[in-house]
Amino acid sequence: AALSTTWTFVDGDWHEGNVALVGPRSHVFWLASSVFDGARWFEGVAPDLDRHAARVNASAISLGLKPTKTPEEIIGLTWDGLKKFDGKTAVYIRPMYWAEHGGYMGVPADPESTRFCLCLYEAPMLPPAGFSIGVSSFRRPSLETMPTDAKAGCLYPNNGRSILEAKARGFDNALVLDMLGNVAETGSSNIFMVKDSHVFTPVANGTFLSGITRARTIKLLADYGFRTTEKTLTVKDFREADEIFSTGNHSKVVPITRFEDRDLQPGPVAKKARALYWDWAHSTPVN
Ligand code: PMP
Repeated sequence: AALSTTWTFVDGDWHEGNVALVGPRSHVFWLASSVFDGARWFEGVAPDLDRHAARVNASAISLGLKPTKTPEEIIGLTWDGLKKFDGKTAVYIRPMYWAEHGGYMGVPADPESTRFCLCLYEAPMLPPAGFSIGVSSFRRPSLETMPTDAKAGCLYPNNGRSILEAKARGFDNALVLDMLGNVAETGSSNIFMVKDSHVFTPVANGTFLSGITRARTIKLLADYGFRTTEKTLTVKDFREADEIFSTGNHSKVVPITRFEDRDLQPGPVAKKARALYWDWAHSTPVN
């Protein structure tokens, strides 16, 4: 299938399209030594771009890579690259680092071979239609078994099989538990629930991506006056929730419309959280 309009900055220049960057001997191709971040530009703003730029460097360090750009440089390159787009369609912003060579026995990444690219591509914002989730039989690994503190490509096959399993059961996405059986996140976003107007989200315990949209949503809801608590949450808690919603940079705040055998209506808190996010995004000086 044709890819949407895509621009990639690599080795000092912008290239149009899905430029080829690695070969079969590249460490990343063989042993998945890649990290990335995902931010978004839409309606003239790029919310929390500074945090996304800082996180990709932290992810690189976690994987043993050596960041070759400062967050400020990544931000500057992003605004530079955005000029290549029509200024109307929303754009996905993906800075990435990867290793070209391996170290001892080829296994660890050689930090000196770290490469960087910034890939921008058109990706329209989705309407806040919501999606369904079913509980996955696959679990999030812990920090002892995988670099779960990084946004690393190597974590995503586990998310992928959770989503495939959920799809086979008739759901859009998976609700993935941590190693202890508590709720962690969906296959591609963070998760919130509401009970008696009290907002809850799983406490960041290192097993799931502690999302930038999650942190922003917690702050916006708390500042607005909702009781908002990070807490260990079980499947039972979610079964008894009045509302469930999801956060992630791709679609920001969207309602969950079905959880296992329960149909849910998009609720007032999810709607308010989404409205608060948009108001904040448009009232914040562009970073
Ligand atoms: N969890 C996973 C597995 C994700 O892929 C994402 C999307 N990047 C998130 C959570 C949400 O994180 P953020 O709000 O930082 O995009």
